Amino acid sequence: MTSGRYDDHFRAQLDALKDEGNYRVFAELERRCGAFPQARNHGGQGGDVTVWCGNDYLGMGQHPKVLDAMHATIDACGAGAGGTRNISGTTHAHVRLERELADLHGKPAALLFTSGYVSNWAALSTLGARLPGCTILSDSLNHASMIEGIRHARCAKQVWRHNDVEDLDRRLSALNPEAPKIVAFESVYSMDGDIAPIAEILDVAETHNAMTYLDEVHAVGLYGPRGGGIAEREGLADRVTLIEGTLGKAFGVVGGYITGSEALVDFIRSFASGFIFTTALPPAIAAAAAESIRVLKGFEGARLRAAHQRKVARLRDRLDAMGIPHLPNPSHIVPVMVKDPVKCRMLADILLDRYGIYVQPINYPTVPKGAERLRFTPSPLHSETEIDRLADALHDLWSQCALARVVA
Ligand SMILES: *Cc1c(COP(=O)(O)O)cnc(C)c1O
Repeated sequence: MTSGRYDDHFRAQLDALKDEGNYRVFAELERRCGAFPQARNHGGQGGDVTVWCGNDYLGMGQHPKVLDAMHATIDACGAGAGGTRNISGTTHAHVRLERELADLHGKPAALLFTSGYVSNWAALSTLGARLPGCTILSDSLNHASMIEGIRHARCAKQVWRHNDVEDLDRRLSALNPEAPKIVAFESVYSMDGDIAPIAEILDVAETHNAMTYLDEVHAVGLYGPRGGGIAEREGLADRVTLIEGTLGKAFGVVGGYITGSEALVDFIRSFASGFIFTTALPPAIAAAAAESIRVLKGFEGARLRAAHQRKVARLRDRLDAMGIPHLPNPSHIVPVMVKDPVKCRMLADILLDRYGIYVQPINYPTVPKGAERLRFTPSPLHSETEIDRLADALHDLWSQCALARVVA
């Protein structure tokens, strides 16, 4: 057995991770359909828990219309797509979903991927690799999927200071005006919940003839009159060259996509290996996602978005009343700052075991060392009682663990 020697190496690195408090432990949950946000916990002490860190932000993963669409398509078409998009895997459900996505963002075309991660990785790497002399200018807090895509592009790259339009402008000004440039950024940043100054970024990018690449993963379904994201809300979608999103968060299913001009989308479709050489999503997934998007485009979506923001505001009010420190931001993400990886994990463990409250500790490398946090994501389906219960639990723990409070 030679593998033992390799295992020793693996264990040593895992031990180092554990010593730092950065070893990841997954909760084994069974989500209960119809009882959102409740789940059965198959680990630890077991029992029912309230999920407080889900990215199924509106509970659409359990919406009856979404489930009906999924069931009906399974019955009509079976389980899988049966091939890559090129070889027998492009079904009617995929084409309809892409039309729905293009319409959501007011773009001529859309292209589906197996996840948001893959869409960022494939689109950015293809653009950067195939635009001769291209420089990608990436916001310093961009998601790992964008960073990996940019790395894989092997083109010139610059990292600009987070949301700093002047830094971006300075960097663009120093580049050859004739060479292609891509400004890559997000709308809602998932860990701090802050929102990019999209209009200013577009102004600067347009001045320098740079293309803009906007990840709206944490905004689609949640913002804008039809759930088209922050760019839709601010009337800016038509100025963004490429909008990328996920079907796995607010839309409650799985999958990723890009939208843009016919030529841009056809280009990625034709050259991105992460699109071409993989089995298409199951048609039932595509049908469910399309239904979720349709629901969120309409009146019910507007109602859910308003209820979502009300619940977020209530949680913040409760935390403020108790002096629990949380990062203020204009989005739906409520980061409670612990700033210590070991305490962060300990708090999460106690919340789960003693209070039936499930929140995953967010540690390095997802956030910088010293910025460890509990990231709460209230949904419209978290009741006011549940919100109060969470705030009371944090109040208890802050006293027991002698953690610092904010003094009003
Ligand atoms: C989650 C996430 C992705 C990846 O989307 P998936 O559909 O989960 O693969 C991309 N960008 C950002 C900012 C994300 O948070």
